[in-house]
Amino acid sequence: MYHLTRVSNNRKTGPIPVSTTTSDSCPPTCSLKGAGCYAEQGKLGIWWRQVKTKGVDLEAFAAQVKRLPNGQLWRHNQAGDLPHTDGRIDVEALQRIVDANRGKRGFTYTHHSMLRLDADRDNRSAVLNANLSGFTINLSADSLKQADALADLNIGPVVAIVEPGGPLWGKTPAGRHYVVCPAQHREYTTCATCQLCAKKRNHIVAFEAHGSQSRRVINIVRAA
Ligand code: SF4
Repeated sequence: MYHLTRVSNNRKTGPIPVSTTTSDSCPPTCSLKGAGCYAEQGKLGIWWRQVKTKGVDLEAFAAQVKRLPNGQLWRHNQAGDLPHTDGRIDVEALQRIVDANRGKRGFTYTHHSMLRLDADRDNRSAVLNANLSGFTINLSADSLKQADALADLNIGPVVAIVEPGGPLWGKTPAGRHYVVCPAQHREYTTCATCQLCAKKRNHIVAFEAHGSQSRRVINIVRAA
C-alpha cells in the first residue's frame, strides 16, 4: 500500500509531496531491515505501520502522483522501497510510478540488490530505465566502498551511509567525490531547497548514521 502526503511536515524533506510505502516493499536482502533502519524508529516508524490501513493501492497512488503539478519535486518513500517479488523489482508496478511521474521530478532510493552478476540483471535494467525516464532512483550503499561498486554500474546516482562525525565531504576509496547530506548539518536546508538527490550527478551523497539504532548501523557500515 502507498500513501502520498501532499505537503510533508518531515523536517528533513521540507514541505514537498512525500510518499510512504508499506514495509513489504523492502527487499529481503536489505542489511538494515530490523537492524537499525531509521524508518522503523520513532514517529516515522509509527506512521509507516499505519500505512497498511491508511494507504491506497498502486492505481490510486499513481493517479495522485499524476495529479501533482508539472515540474513538482516530490520524494517517493520516506520509508519503504520499490515494489518487488522476492527481491526482483516488479517492472510493471515500477513503470506505473514512472509513467505517473512524467513531467514531475520524483526521486527515491533503493536498497534492492544490484551487484550480483546474473541474479540482479533485471533489477539493474529496471533502475536504469526509470532513471532514463526522469524518475530518479538513487542506489543505496552501506558504505563508501560499496558506493563505488554501485557507481561502477552506471545506472543511477548513488548514496551511502557513513559514520557520524567524519568530514562533510571527501573521496571514496576509488576516488569519487562525496558530500554529506547538507540537511544533516544545516538547520534550514531541506530536500525542498537542496534537491541534490533528484539530480543526475557523479558524486555520492553520504548520510551519517543516525537515530537510536546508530551503533548498529555503524557496525553495518564497517562490515560493508
Ligand atoms: S542531499 Fe539534499 S536532497 Fe538528498 S536527502 Fe539530503 S537534503 Fe534531501
